[in-house]
Amino acid sequence: MNVLVTAGPTREAIDPVRYVSNRSSGKMGYAIAAAAAARGHAVCLVSGPVCLEPPAGVAFVPVVSADDMLAAVGAQFGACDALVMAAAVADFRPRAVSPVKLKKAAGLRPLELEATPDILAAVAARKGTRFVAGFAAETGPVMLAEARRKLRDKNLDLIVANDVSEPGAGFEVDTNRVTFVDAAGEEALPLMSKAAVADRLVRRIEAELARRAP
Ligand code: C5P
Repeated sequence: MNVLVTAGPTREAIDPVRYVSNRSSGKMGYAIAAAAAARGHAVCLVSGPVCLEPPAGVAFVPVVSADDMLAAVGAQFGACDALVMAAAVADFRPRAVSPVKLKKAAGLRPLELEATPDILAAVAARKGTRFVAGFAAETGPVMLAEARRKLRDKNLDLIVANDVSEPGAGFEVDTNRVTFVDAAGEEALPLMSKAAVADRLVRRIEAELARRAP
């Protein structure tokens, strides 16, 4: 199958040298791209700025902002059978980007923010027979309720939910503890390497697409 994966954070410019972003390392998304390639799938990885080498044998599209990622995912989506949005897209961006570096001497100005486009919701609205998976990084006991809400609101086939406040899960580390949430229910996995989580996810998508095939 053709698998489209997004990874990493996005950066939303304040001025030519400053930006708004988040702590995503890209490790989970890169592990998914590597796992899909290892299982013989054609993979396109759309990545925000991270310190990782793209996995071998993967088509690589580097992006910076949410708008860039929306354009890249929009361009690749038609050709994919499955999209996994592991990217931590910045939720907000400065409403106005200064074309020149803001002067420290001018003092701290309130930063007016606006929502970024929801890439996942935008493409999932026209998903057809494609399998579309998103991630839900939450903190605390609201995790599963939030995951179910996102599954429904964004018209997804699967949400990979993780509590990023748990030790060994979420940003920057090499392990993760995730729960797969779909319309049929939940599967809570134990703490495992991101490579193992990625392999489980790819196999699950393979099985689902095989089940749907006429
Ligand atoms: O709503 P929330 O940001 O928690 O949703 C997380 C999921 O939505 C992730 O899969 C993320 O990649 C995706 N997302 C997106 N565009 C945004 C924000 C999140 O595609 N602007």
